[in-house]
Amino acid sequence: MGRKRTVVVVEDEDAIRRGVVDILTLAGYLVVEAADGRTGLTESRRADVDLVLLDLLLPRMDGFEVLSELRKTCPALPVIILSARGSEDDRVRGLRGGADDYVIKPFSARELLARVDAVLRRSPERPEPIVTISLGDTVVDCGRREIRRGGGECVALSEMEAGILLRLVSHAGRSVSREELLSAVWGIRDGGVETRAIDMHITRLRQKLRGEEGGDDGSALEWVATVRGKGYMLGAGVKIATDEEPSENVT
Ligand code: CA
Repeated sequence: MGRKRTVVVVEDEDAIRRGVVDILTLAGYLVVEAADGRTGLTESRRADVDLVLLDLLLPRMDGFEVLSELRKTCPALPVIILSARGSEDDRVRGLRGGADDYVIKPFSARELLARVDAVLRRSPERPEPIVTISLGDTVVDCGRREIRRGGGECVALSEMEAGILLRLVSHAGRSVSREELLSAVWGIRDGGVETRAIDMHITRLRQKLRGEEGGDDGSALEWVATVRGKGYMLGAGVKIATDEEPSENVT
């Protein structure tokens, strides 16, 4: 196992955050810090993150909200809640919201590392998040790489097309540049490759999303919108769902 694991620490109290960062860095992890919920969410959605340590009481977006947003796009990303609020209610709410574990502050370095280790061991290989997205009566199953339409028509997506969609889904709400798509989907990091290849895949993806009868380009642009001078973005009307929607009626 040569690759260093990356942990995002979302904690607004500077002293605690620095302490956790030191503990993890000394233990050999790569650490990304965030002092508020919104930044934490953005950092946690990056493709190379292995685990998130998430405080609950945070400025800009609280930990429960961050967790719920994360679960929509990264259902398999391990999350450990860090909180001084050791009440059972919060613990249950956090675990039910999809947290993998819960550490109550104050904690020792040994305890923290043991939890991080245990959670990472349970998810040795990060599985692809299985995401279903829909617009109207058209549903895209990114895991199975297929488009299903209300009429029963089913169209297969190529690995590249599904990869592009997943990248847009995991960055819903912001544009993704062609360079970023190249590096994320193709694994190409130098700028020597034609970014036009991306445009060709996008065109084919839109054709598939539009289907046979939908002659106007409008519906395809609703799925994958062009952001001039920036790249592409998932359409605002596209609904994202994971295959593990928490059921509401569990008590
Ligand atoms: Ca806090």
